[in-house]
Amino acid sequence: MSFSADIITLFPELFPGPLGASVLGRGMADGLWSLEATQLRDFASDRHRTVDDTPSGGGAGMVLKPDILAKAIDAISPVGDPRPRILMSPRGRPLTQQRAHELAEGPGAVIVCGRFEGIDQRVIDARQLEEISIGDYVLAGGEVAAMVLLEAVVRLIPGVLGKAESHADESFENGLLEYPQYTRPQTFEGVDIPAVLTSGDHGKIAKWRTEQSQTLTAARRPDLLGK
Ligand code: SAH
Repeated sequence: MSFSADIITLFPELFPGPLGASVLGRGMADGLWSLEATQLRDFASDRHRTVDDTPSGGGAGMVLKPDILAKAIDAISPVGDPRPRILMSPRGRPLTQQRAHELAEGPGAVIVCGRFEGIDQRVIDARQLEEISIGDYVLAGGEVAAMVLLEAVVRLIPGVLGKAESHADESFENGLLEYPQYTRPQTFEGVDIPAVLTSGDHGKIAKWRTEQSQTLTAARRPDLLGK
């Protein structure tokens, strides 16, 4: 069974966007994963296809209505659907490489993209939406956030990246940032590739890379070292 992603959005035409390019697009064509984007407005019941209303208690902006969103979620992810239901939200738990691995090992995800001021709390509670944030800043909508989440997850699905593009050494995989990478030419603007990397001594190379990773992580992301 391949990984199946469903997106609920007011802008389904934005998908697959970058998710259709390169290795992820190839993985989709090969049936390793699938993506369906559904227009939330299709679940509105009035003539104007209204999906939002003013915030109770006052304030600026609009809030996505719980009844319409619940209808969409129930149609796309009926009771018994094993996939987690995710809401992209700046109030969510920050996305991590570990959560991406967990999702990649599962059956897929149903992802709700917010817009405007957000969505009615009652549908978050009633449908047990897992709120996930992609960082401490506010976007205009959840679509790009959903793409970030899916891009991080889908590249971990076995077979999506070739063996040559393994991710075992990458940033965050071992709690460290990745060591610096180099390729030819041997000399670029007067700077040589570090000699150890062209020495052919695999033990020395591994040791140098680990040291570089540790130094870089200590300098840039000391918060990762405590974990
Ligand atoms: N008023 C809300 C922000 C709404 S932004 C607040 O202050 O928390 C509109 C939509 O964009 C949100 O519903 C969410 O789906 C998406 N979004 C914005 N920033 C995001 C982030 N950092 N991570 C994930 N989704 C985000």
